[in-house]
Amino acid sequence: MYIRPAVFLDNIVNSRIAAKMILAPEHCNCPLVDQGASIVDSYICPGTFYFMILLEAYLKGRCNIANPCTTIKSVDRIEPEYDFIVVGAGAAGAIVAGRLSEHNKFKVLIIEAGDVDPVGSRPPSFYRTFWRDSHLTWNYRTVPDNYCLDQEDGLGCVWPRGKVLGGTTLLNGMMYHRGHAADYEDWVNAGATNWSWEENLPFFDKTEGNKQIGTLVSAQHHSDKGPLPVQQFPYQPDAIYELLNAINETGLPIINDMNDPDTPDGFTIAQTFNENGQRYTTARVFLRPESELPNLHVKLNSRVTRVIIEDNKATGVEFIDENGEKQTVLAAKEVILSGGALNSPHLLMLSGVGPKETLEQFDIPVIADLPVGQNLRNHYGVTLYFVLTKLVNTEVLDWSTVLDYLLVRQGAMTSTGITQLTGLLYSSLADKSRKQPDIQFFFNGFYAECSHTGMVNEIFDDGHMGTNISANAAILLPRSIGNLTLQSADPLDPPLFYPNYFSHPDDLVMIRDGVRYLQQLFNSDTLQNKYGIELDSLTTEKCKDNEDWSDEWIECMARVNTDPQNHQMGTAAIGSVVDTELNVLGVDGLRVIDASVIPTQMTGNPQGAIMMVAERGAHFIKEDWI
Ligand SMILES: Cc1cc2nc3c(=O)[nH]c(=O)nc-3n(C[C@H](O)[C@H](O)[C@H](O)COP(=O)(O)OP(=O)(O)OC[C@H]3O[C@@H](n4cnc5c(N)ncnc54)[C@H](O)[C@@H]3O)c2cc1C
Repeated sequence: MYIRPAVFLDNIVNSRIAAKMILAPEHCNCPLVDQGASIVDSYICPGTFYFMILLEAYLKGRCNIANPCTTIKSVDRIEPEYDFIVVGAGAAGAIVAGRLSEHNKFKVLIIEAGDVDPVGSRPPSFYRTFWRDSHLTWNYRTVPDNYCLDQEDGLGCVWPRGKVLGGTTLLNGMMYHRGHAADYEDWVNAGATNWSWEENLPFFDKTEGNKQIGTLVSAQHHSDKGPLPVQQFPYQPDAIYELLNAINETGLPIINDMNDPDTPDGFTIAQTFNENGQRYTTARVFLRPESELPNLHVKLNSRVTRVIIEDNKATGVEFIDENGEKQTVLAAKEVILSGGALNSPHLLMLSGVGPKETLEQFDIPVIADLPVGQNLRNHYGVTLYFVLTKLVNTEVLDWSTVLDYLLVRQGAMTSTGITQLTGLLYSSLADKSRKQPDIQFFFNGFYAECSHTGMVNEIFDDGHMGTNISANAAILLPRSIGNLTLQSADPLDPPLFYPNYFSHPDDLVMIRDGVRYLQQLFNSDTLQNKYGIELDSLTTEKCKDNEDWSDEWIECMARVNTDPQNHQMGTAAIGSVVDTELNVLGVDGLRVIDASVIPTQMTGNPQGAIMMVAERGAHFIKEDWI
């Protein structure tokens, strides 16, 4: 039963037992662990606040949040040879390693450059806390160009990528989307001949464990058989319902399920990867400690620097371990790259698989001349920042929300504020008959992520009157295509990223259409009169010579407040770098299984498709070796 926080506060004041429940760590049958990065002094919540320290201590003391008994530890000593070596424990890699180790005859090693996932990443409200944590991310920036001009340091766009158990699924918004059938028609046309919607469906079903079949969504489009929990967050702030009112007022569609092919477009409260008030990453679901799964070894804080390829066969990998020592480990059967769309192509090039002229430029012996790093696709658009002038800017996180969370896993800490609302709509360039919307909207704000004191109604003072929110209009089928390439032959130097945003004129047409939808919302009675919404003048300053909402203003805003989504893919695509079973062309014993292999864009959040790729990839491997 859900009880309002105020009732809890009364109980706490009157009940020493309840107070003890909060303060004392639980007995979890295993010692408490102090794992991973901290929520204290994050870039979202800068400063060492007593309240945040206490909150973190309470989270670590709860058995089913900290899970000390099932915490994955890095193997101390690895064996000289495994059947399979998986590089990267992100969205895809954790599934591949988990599925392969289901076969107890296989010895599997998964090597992850990052550390264990921090306890603070589990409450969904800390969604943004680790985005710029230099220990948990790869700190990638794009090569500067005429976009992301809001970056005061003059460097390019920030592209957060997770370097941690769970990879980027530890940083993401957790939204579950499978894409639209037409996306997979595009894959087939690009050469992924056996990847049609119908052929992929059973592999989506394998992962998804939907908890709202029959109550919100239909079994026709969802599965409850997989291990990854999918459902709406248990909490929505009032602002979500006001936004839905505004959407309703403008006549834009509101839908229940964005995965229902009959309602491809519309705004909805998304289903996300969460249960019991917590984020679920693929690593949390698919990987197990060695004590439970002895044929799976997890090696953390170890960065793979090269795939060893002899006579065009991958035989192992080199890596730098947690002590900075260079090591080698052999693969009797296959090496699988699951380092993500930015790192897997980097590793391929460092290993001699890539464009001949690039490899020769850096004196890397050419093993296979392939267009690795080309076809870098990413959704992007513009972020517009607003102030709700009629609301006082108070912190959502306070003692009341914390009690709610610790005692019953309810309340604002169980959700991502207004980020759980999303919308898919058609631009004027879309072919509606394909049921493939090409603009997606995201909203940001009302996060329970920071507080100095925990006091209820603590004012968040950033010099603004009112509450800040923002909205993004992102295009899903951008015509601009980027690339990545080597900066040097040193594996520790990051690649160079050239997204080439705005290089095709159609992109601006679609972005303008997206902003026009947001303008409609902005002008709604609800947002104007109830909230007193205004554009945040601090973020429009660089475009002030253009009239607000004019075409010129939209282009200026898009180049200044560029919204690079974090859906990079396509850099080792099926049909040009890997075959239809994900084997690297011209090299035996080497597959790529992650977002890199997706040949054309998804029209939605990509993790669903990436997990499907991982399930299919693991299936192909099993078919070959069992
Ligand atoms: C802020 C944000 C919000 C997002 N929101 C959503 C959302 O709501 N829904 C959705 O569907 N998608 C979302 N995404 C995108 C989604 O998270 C990614 O597309 C997905 O995680 C990519 O999966 P992957 O397996 O290809 O790579 P990753 O998940 O990035 O995993 C790659 C792993 O490989 C490791 N690795 C890389 N190189 C090496 C090496 N050399 N040696 C050892 N290990 C290595 C990395 O450390 C990492 O752990 C979001 C992304 C971000 C950043």
